[in-house]
Amino acid sequence: MVLRLSTLFLRTLREDPADAEVASHRLLVRAGYIRRAAPGIYSWLPLGLKVLGRVERIVREEMEAIGAQEVHFPALLPKEPYEATNRWTEYGDGIFRLKDRKDADYLLAPTHEEMFTLLVKDLYASYKDLPVSLFQIQTKYRDEARPRAGLLRGREFIMKDSYSFDIDDAGLEASYQAHRGAYLRIFERLGLGVVPAPATAGAMGGSRSEEFLHPTPLGEDPLVRPARGATANGGAVTPVGPDAVGFPDAPAAEVRDTPDTPTIVTLVDHANASAPREDRAWAAADTLKNVVLAAVLPAGEREIVVIGVPGDRSVDLKRIEATIAGHVGTGGEVAVEAATEEDLEKHPGLVKGYIGPGLSLDAAVLGAEATTGLTYLVDPRVVPGTSWITGANEHGTHVFGLVAGRDFGWDGGIEAVEGREGDEAPDGSGPLVAARGIEMGHIFQLGRKYADALGLKVLDANGKLATVTMGSYGVGVPRAIAALAESNHDDRGIIWPRNVAPADVHVVATGKGAEIFEAAEALTAELEAAGLEVLYDDRPKVSPGVKFGDAELIGVPTIVVVGRGLAEGVLEVKDRRTGQAQNVAVDDVVGLLRGLVEH
Ligand code: ATP
Ligand code: MG
Repeated sequence: MVLRLSTLFLRTLREDPADAEVASHRLLVRAGYIRRAAPGIYSWLPLGLKVLGRVERIVREEMEAIGAQEVHFPALLPKEPYEATNRWTEYGDGIFRLKDRKDADYLLAPTHEEMFTLLVKDLYASYKDLPVSLFQIQTKYRDEARPRAGLLRGREFIMKDSYSFDIDDAGLEASYQAHRGAYLRIFERLGLGVVPAPATAGAMGGSRSEEFLHPTPLGEDPLVRPARGATANGGAVTPVGPDAVGFPDAPAAEVRDTPDTPTIVTLVDHANASAPREDRAWAAADTLKNVVLAAVLPAGEREIVVIGVPGDRSVDLKRIEATIAGHVGTGGEVAVEAATEEDLEKHPGLVKGYIGPGLSLDAAVLGAEATTGLTYLVDPRVVPGTSWITGANEHGTHVFGLVAGRDFGWDGGIEAVEGREGDEAPDGSGPLVAARGIEMGHIFQLGRKYADALGLKVLDANGKLATVTMGSYGVGVPRAIAALAESNHDDRGIIWPRNVAPADVHVVATGKGAEIFEAAEALTAELEAAGLEVLYDDRPKVSPGVKFGDAELIGVPTIVVVGRGLAEGVLEVKDRRTGQAQNVAVDDVVGLLRGLVEH
């Protein structure tokens, strides 16, 4: 396939579009990949469609490799299924709603869980039909409050969405893991570094879910990652706790009056005023903060859990939600929320602002009646032997010098706080660095929420009706393209990773002589015959400077210049990323490029 610049529907722009704030947006518009149609809504031009096609192909291949089958739903959908799951209202202003001529309600689909659930319900009736995974690469509509950064957050965008259907939890776990692997392979092939991170399920409902975050300063999600080493397959960044310390000489714990100290800041101030340390000032890290959370169990009941974390750390609900199921309830999906006033009222032992570790090993310290009797978990940083200032379960009192493992115990450990800069990376590569990430993909274990709401049941092995359990998995295709442009550009233009570039090679003919154009034409034909996709700048009477400028802006990774060197039998092969050029004998060029482009 050869695209000739003399006829290609393309106008590169010298000026940045006025509404573009980020590099990917500016460059994708200037290089002629996309045009804005309305806020957050873009048209794809020929070069853009080439890139889109390559990204979609990678996504499609990896979906098919895990056995998912492609279907295609309309974007225009009736209201009823979305009413059955309550999302018609839950989405609020986030969706586009419209009416037909008979005044019936429709919406433009923001995602398709309902429709896939109904499709499988329509056609399948037995556990023998399962598992099945279906996917589509299809247009979504969301009336985003702040469409921004071009393709990064659009109001119309293409998503690969897939849905898995299983008869039991083990099946769902297997489907989820298959998708997880496929996603890592997709991002690897795209050349897009991602960090998988536990996530809350949001409007989707359900339990276990992970986001694949691409580190970029433009990202909306905070993230920490190893400073070095691969991020693509690194797994979620898990902070590791320090080793246990001995406590043979630790003084006995002591309960003290600490009036008006319901927060960490007021407590630390009080400690420094009333009981100053000799070696240094008391700090938030010396306090043990006991956070009360509600674990929402599958049947809807709320189990209160207390989690102890160092006072200078913030709890990360997403991270807790990812593993809490092992500590509460009796299996199934568990969501985690901050406890409400109502929750607290049911447990008078929890004295707001003065909550202590719930489980006391040494009743002499806290008093047996002062223990809360609730499940008590601690962050890995609360290691045996560490000494804390923490609540004494009575208004206006704290206990000083409470030693973990000596004065209090716990029911289990849980990764509970946000990792932060300076924490040791779990892969041993050194301290973590803070970064920001943008969500490239999201995988969810939905469980039975949608199947329940829409009545998707099949006969199980015992001939009984069983509700199907589902997963849903999404990748934003245009967002991936924008992220690639964002993370692969310089001040002259885009530098595409080879697998997604609009062409494999950009041939530039420079000079006036007919022999130059003839040689470039012949080279282009040979490259095409060798299976390469070629962008050929055959424009007559356009200066070399303009042609090079366009080639750099467009960003095909290899540029071949047919020009002055031809008289000596050489062409110039340039690497767009490094800027390095080498002279290559005319006869060797095709072989060299074939070697570069293996995909
Ligand atoms: P975000 O938090 O960025 O709004 P989301 O949680 O709403 O994303 P999902 O509903 O999980 O996203 O959609 C799956 C994928 O679709 C996302 O991982 C992202 O790649 C893409 N996506 C979501 N919203 C947009 C958008 N407005 N524009 C472009 N891509 C999007
Ligand atoms: Mg969103």
